[in-house]
Amino acid sequence: MPETLAVVGGGVIGLAVAARASREGWSVRLYDPSIGSGASWVAGGMLAPLSEGWPGEHELLAFGAHSLARWPEFAAALPGPSVFSATGSLTVALDAADAADLKTIAEWVGEQGHDLEILGRAQVREIEPSLAQNIRLGLLAPTELAVDNRALVGALREAAADVEFVPEAVDDLGSLKADQIVLAAGAHSAAVLAGVQVRAVKGEILRLRRRPSASPSPTRTIRGSVHGRAVYLVPRGDGLVVGATQYESGQDTQVTVAGVRDLIADAERLMPSIGEYELHETAAGLRPMSPDGLPLIGRISERVIVASGHGRNGILLTPITADAVSALLAGDTLPEAKAADPARFEPAPLEKVRNK
Ligand SMILES: Cc1cc2nc3c(=O)[nH]c(=O)nc-3n(C[C@H](O)[C@H](O)[C@H](O)COP(=O)(O)OP(=O)(O)OC[C@H]3O[C@@H](n4cnc5c(N)ncnc54)[C@H](O)[C@@H]3O)c2cc1C
Repeated sequence: MPETLAVVGGGVIGLAVAARASREGWSVRLYDPSIGSGASWVAGGMLAPLSEGWPGEHELLAFGAHSLARWPEFAAALPGPSVFSATGSLTVALDAADAADLKTIAEWVGEQGHDLEILGRAQVREIEPSLAQNIRLGLLAPTELAVDNRALVGALREAAADVEFVPEAVDDLGSLKADQIVLAAGAHSAAVLAGVQVRAVKGEILRLRRRPSASPSPTRTIRGSVHGRAVYLVPRGDGLVVGATQYESGQDTQVTVAGVRDLIADAERLMPSIGEYELHETAAGLRPMSPDGLPLIGRISERVIVASGHGRNGILLTPITADAVSALLAGDTLPEAKAADPARFEPAPLEKVRNK
């Protein structure tokens, strides 16, 4: 069995892969000039594949649901305090069109065997009294979770105690001496290896702290849509994370005035008392997006495995990715991760990579 593994990129994906491989006996080096500073640090931390389900999107739903089911065991194996920050999510509708969409989701996702519940206006306010009075309908997903993504980065670093961290960027995989290589450089993966179909999608996000005089926060993740823009509030011990904008703007990570304005205005439509909170932090990050919304997890040459393109769901998909890469390193494949095989895209660019 080969012994040395190089992991390129130390976000949640690279850290989880490295920690797991080192536990399984590999001698692991992780290369990253700035560990945990990418999308994994910026994210909201929702684990919400069910309430994002949509008729026909079977593979996306199944893939996310498989990872959500792994989360309790994955989190229990991490060192330190629990990384979970909420149990349950509630998606709310402010108008008739959104209410119809929520019913469609509840019906279709329910048919796939998952537990979702439609709540009327009074029930919504009963379980989350801080929400706006004009909410028409709610979709409750009791089994969805949320994690503090920054606590997760810290816990994964600790779990990777036997990994050697090399604070360098890698621009040529061929220069690495390891027996096996995992490419997990998030939105920068295509810059490291041309042909990997991952592009950057910018997202801005806010961190709010509850001031002593402010109204209590919701206890569940709250999601909604305002003027066609998605907005969510994710509970934290000290307040809320409010996300997120979405733009195709290359590698730009500046926070714009318009982004912050829209997020605050949209969040206020869901939770009118949000103006009482402290605006503690604004941030922007790059989602590593694939062409079809599923990640790319698979072997692209005898020595190179890609684990990237997790888009808007990389925190959710960390456990299944660690399992899938562990199987690949053992010469196996994880059946539940078949849909993420990078070979599903036209072979031309990856053939070039293989022959390099
Ligand atoms: C605003 C926002 C909100 C989000 N909310 C959620 C959410 O609620 N739930 C969810 O599941 N997901 C969410 N996501 C998505 C999630 O954050 C990402 O999918 C996930 O963090 C990707 O992890 P990663 O390890 O692949 O990438 P990253 O965390 O971006 O890590 C990549 C790492 O690679 C390193 N790197 C880059 N180039 C090189 C190189 N040449 N050599 C070595 N290292 C390199 C970087 O320094 C970085 O540390 C959100 C993302 C954003 C931007």
